[in-house]
Amino acid sequence: MERRTFIKGTLTTAGAAVASTLWAESAQAEPKQPRIEQYRKLGKTDINMSDISFGAGRLSSASLVLRAIQRGINYIDTAPDYGPSEAAIGEALSKYKQRDKLVIASKFCQPGYHLPLGSKKADYIAAVEGSLRRMGCDYLDVVFTHALGSDKSLEQESQRLHDGEMLAAYAELKQQGKVRYLATSSHGPYNMETLLLEAVNGGYYDIIMPAFNFMKFPRLEQVIQAAQQKGVGVIAMKTLAGAKDSLGERQEGSFEQAAFKWVLKHPQVAGLVISFRKTSELDLFLGASGQAFAMADQKVLDRYAALYGNHYCRTGCSDCERSCEVGVPVGEILRQRMYFEDYGDEKLAMQLYSRLSTNAQACVGCDQAACAGQCRYGVPIQAALVGAHRMLTLES
Ligand code: SF4
Ligand code: SF4
Repeated sequence: MERRTFIKGTLTTAGAAVASTLWAESAQAEPKQPRIEQYRKLGKTDINMSDISFGAGRLSSASLVLRAIQRGINYIDTAPDYGPSEAAIGEALSKYKQRDKLVIASKFCQPGYHLPLGSKKADYIAAVEGSLRRMGCDYLDVVFTHALGSDKSLEQESQRLHDGEMLAAYAELKQQGKVRYLATSSHGPYNMETLLLEAVNGGYYDIIMPAFNFMKFPRLEQVIQAAQQKGVGVIAMKTLAGAKDSLGERQEGSFEQAAFKWVLKHPQVAGLVISFRKTSELDLFLGASGQAFAMADQKVLDRYAALYGNHYCRTGCSDCERSCEVGVPVGEILRQRMYFEDYGDEKLAMQLYSRLSTNAQACVGCDQAACAGQCRYGVPIQAALVGAHRMLTLES
């Protein structure tokens, strides 16, 4: 089937299913609305995913899911610990009614907490059954062992990746038709590339989801090449490199689209997942679907890198932490600062920060500052950490 034909067919079918008022409203404005222009094969799976796909981490409304589907998005990424996300998707599914037209991915976790290492097969099965119950559906297309590299210990995270209880649960769920594919994700802050390469070489993961953006990670190209060779699908996340606009110097839209086009120019990447919070982001983000990366896009990204390059702590990097005798988890803290400052997730950022056993309080009076000059990207580490500590504790 021709790509355009496929898209048109998908939308026509979807149009019959979604609430009529929403549909009529959308149809009126249809000629002007950007929509998905490209679907790509996800590794050896039978999934053709929309190149720009729906991250439901901040989702609270079913109508936004329906609007996204109407624009051609067919892949939805959620998790039990994304607040009301799964319930909102469930409400959308109850209106859309064509479960088989969508790809739904969720995670091996529970509302409020990730399944720790040592969890039993029954815990993993209960996690998936909870997701199915909240979304009112019979199966997940994809289930993730997620957030690999959250812990500093490579050994522990590697055990999580290859955990026998998790694999046994997956095998049983697959045999029962409750899940179709196994995936894993990492945005660090520790050992992202090493762990994902292990996943690719392990042989039982169908899909990996790395943080991937134009502020490169040195070994990630090697990981996605290996994935392509083994038929493991690659989905990118964290594609906006912090999505900074604190100086208000960039034009909304052009940066996001350039960053997406940069990711999608890699043939190893089937698609990217980006969080949608409001309808206007459909216009903003979907303009990049199916579009080639151009010189003008590179200029936009160069400008962004010049403005924010030394502010952005690279996801998955923890190089400078070796220099700190106190053991301050630099990458983790600066990620929490990003949640607070750039994503607007202030409560989440402060909660995560409050749970750290070692935080950046130590940096406030650190005279040695052995971390000085240790960041190859020029991040002024001590100043960034002191600022993060004040932001995340509201101390002046
Ligand atoms: S501050 Fe620099 S060296 Fe340290 S973790 Fe972040 S990117 Fe890596
Ligand atoms: S400022 Fe001191 S305590 Fe903070 S990360 Fe650097 S070396 Fe460690």
